[in-house]
Amino acid sequence: MASSVEVTVTATGRKIQVPTGLFINNEFVPSADSKETIECIDPATESTICSVVAGSAKDIDLAVRAARHAFATTWGKHVTGFERSRLLNKLADLIERDAQQLAELECLNNGKPVKVARDFDIGDSVACLRYYAGFADKIVGQTIEVDNKTKVAFTRHDPIGVCGQVIPWNYPIQMWAWKVAPALACGCTIVMKPSEFTPLTALKLSELIVEAGFPPGVVNTVPSLGSVGGAALSAHPDVDKIAFTGSTVTGRKIMEAAAKSNLKKVSLELGGKSPQLIFESADLEEASKWAALGILYNTGQDCTAGSRVYVQDSIYDAFLEKLVEKAKALTIGQGFDENSGGGPVVSKVQYDKIWSYIESGKQEGAKCILGGEKRAGKGYYVDPTIFTNINPDMKIVKAEIFGPVLAVGKFKTEEEGIKLANDTSYGLGAGLHSNDASQCMRVSQALEAGTVWVNQYNLLYNNVPFGGKKQSGIGRELGSYALDEYTSVKAIHWNYGEKLDWPL
Ligand code: NAD
Repeated sequence: MASSVEVTVTATGRKIQVPTGLFINNEFVPSADSKETIECIDPATESTICSVVAGSAKDIDLAVRAARHAFATTWGKHVTGFERSRLLNKLADLIERDAQQLAELECLNNGKPVKVARDFDIGDSVACLRYYAGFADKIVGQTIEVDNKTKVAFTRHDPIGVCGQVIPWNYPIQMWAWKVAPALACGCTIVMKPSEFTPLTALKLSELIVEAGFPPGVVNTVPSLGSVGGAALSAHPDVDKIAFTGSTVTGRKIMEAAAKSNLKKVSLELGGKSPQLIFESADLEEASKWAALGILYNTGQDCTAGSRVYVQDSIYDAFLEKLVEKAKALTIGQGFDENSGGGPVVSKVQYDKIWSYIESGKQEGAKCILGGEKRAGKGYYVDPTIFTNINPDMKIVKAEIFGPVLAVGKFKTEEEGIKLANDTSYGLGAGLHSNDASQCMRVSQALEAGTVWVNQYNLLYNNVPFGGKKQSGIGRELGSYALDEYTSVKAIHWNYGEKLDWPL
């Protein structure tokens, strides 16, 4: 297999040279022992873009060895925070330089609109790298008084070591940045396993790792099937930490593999079935826009998708009318079309899964008031779909659909609304819309979620932590909190005068 292929973006005429090998020790290499490949599909046309090498368990092992060697020789304690900061800033500059090309490649492989990929996913990724570049020379411990006379203790926040990072297909570049930036800032080395559905931008970003000047082995990228490369990475005895974003089912497997191998540190950012509560005092025009954004952003393929909306009964009809109007206003179409606010869903698997949920909603007696009909022609398109007349036992109310499918219900009292919102095994995001400040405070306190949005939805900032409660995850990404995931705290006790009175 050639080590790179030229991909032509038909819509723009751009030719992109895409690496197709595994990225280990700053080189693109073939698999050590496998001839398997991953076929990359354009979800808008269902045609093949190209194939890349599918890494094996042996390849993961080689990548881990490269990362361990780099940690022991050029990175880890061998590099200053100033240098890590400089390299991260350089990487951010290169991504910013190549933003249009990367956005087109992301659109081709994932389906999302180019403008969304460029202005949101990549814009945020550049900011994320710069945010953690700022931290790289400020990772400090504490000095702790112990007896004021003869002893002191202090802590060091050491890099945890070699990190496995397993990322999903819904935000291929952004999830890469969220994981890579804090790990490198802390001095860790990385084996990255991108999703088998969207490996192309992670490979393209690997070229920028070399150009930025990172030493070999600091970042390694091994596209592979989850059950092969992801499983090997989570079970590897020489990986110190595994960071994962994806489904709760896979998160559980990763935690099990980590426990059975070497008890490596685990952080999991998993699924959700996030609720939004619309109270009668809310600004209905604004709330309907946020609710539409909550379920339709990224065509619903979002871990915080606000896929259950509960509306106070006194404003139910008025709100629903506005919500349908807002959902209809969003165009789902080809990602290269500037008018598209959302693209096709990522894959045939995801397309079939979403349609099976839509069918189950109809069969279980919910009323489909928008969408719910397949389009003719090519492309994995799912139009905004809204169900009403729901009950808590329906699959569309319980399961994470990961598509633009919304279940809308009613409540009478604040207490009932909170109960419905919390009636889920997940706890990632939640939203509430109200103009009663006391109610906002009470309800945001009562909602069981790692992130609660008040009078808005789905906005995240690099300096604010993000993560889940209940079965939505463990640990936090973003903000200073993410540094805890990539450091190991060492306490050093220093005696500068006490004589030991022996025997005790
Ligand atoms: P997934 O959890 O299977 O895949 C996510 C990542 O985990 C991929 O890189 C995959 O290769 C890897 N993986 C799969 N099996 C693994 C294993 N045994 N060990 C280690 N890594 C493994 O998700 P999916 O199959 O791509 O999508 C299924 C559902 O997951 C979606 O419909 C959606 O509900 C959910 N999902 C959630 C998120 C999120 O951001 N929380 C992202 C993607 C998918």
